[in-house]
Amino acid sequence: MPPVREPALYGGIELGGTKTLVAIGDAAGGFRARITLPTAAPAVLLPQIGAFLADHAAEGALAGLGVGAFGPIVIDQAASDYGRLLETNKPGWSGFDLVGALRNVSSAPIKLVTDVAAAGIGEARLGALRGVALGLYLTIGTGIGGAVLHHGLPLPALLHPEIGHIPLLRQADDASPSTCRFHAHCAEGLAAGPAIAARFGRSLNHFSSDGVEQGLVAEYLGQLVATLVLTLSPHRIVIGGGVGSAPGLIPAVEAAMLRQLAGYGGAATATGYLCPPTLAGDAGIVGALCCAADAPLAMAA
Ligand SMILES: [Zn+2]
Repeated sequence: MPPVREPALYGGIELGGTKTLVAIGDAAGGFRARITLPTAAPAVLLPQIGAFLADHAAEGALAGLGVGAFGPIVIDQAASDYGRLLETNKPGWSGFDLVGALRNVSSAPIKLVTDVAAAGIGEARLGALRGVALGLYLTIGTGIGGAVLHHGLPLPALLHPEIGHIPLLRQADDASPSTCRFHAHCAEGLAAGPAIAARFGRSLNHFSSDGVEQGLVAEYLGQLVATLVLTLSPHRIVIGGGVGSAPGLIPAVEAAMLRQLAGYGGAATATGYLCPPTLAGDAGIVGALCCAADAPLAMAA
């Protein structure tokens, strides 16, 4: 009788702006072990990741390592600077060779996507975008990011979508400075967590869902979503992230989106067109594991 083969083990890393999740799991996105680490400078974080992987999987035991990383980061495998962070506000990370550093701590083949794409992939495999042909995953938190998933795979792109930096029309009574250092009135500069904190002194969760604070944020996000509906016509849009999970925000964004569309793009009025992520905070790490486990995806650009 042949020996029973153990299912292959995979590694997943979700490198977020403030915290990093590392997991060992299987091809179905099930966890064997996981850890959450603060996203410290690379010199601190990378040895911690290496130690966790070494503790939970013998060298050579991982069949793949999926990585969802904050950006901007070069995800084109053909580029000479593949796997490097571009200019970023995070100390120690600008220009850092993430993939090169991970190759020093694990011999597993690496698949790199953005953190938002990883969350979108997680939702496409096991969550709210399952079976959706063209899905859009938005995260509204410390920043605003988005991923476009075609049958569960991120669309190949020159860099990757920077949806958060789409310009919006300022509301007439809103003179608060943009918190984006690049743009005076992009979505991230007007409606992400730091913009909300700068304008109102605290996060959106501290205000009632029918107050002017949430109303203003919903108006901006409604503009953003309407632009994406007109550009991509996705079948469904998932809105995640710390700001995105504020009670009552998604219905308010939906109402603002419909005002912006003004009767155009009828299919976007379907119930549940805008929805929260099913996997909540685990979408990114599940997606990272799925990246590692999926051979066709591992070969995609
Ligand atoms: Zn911007």
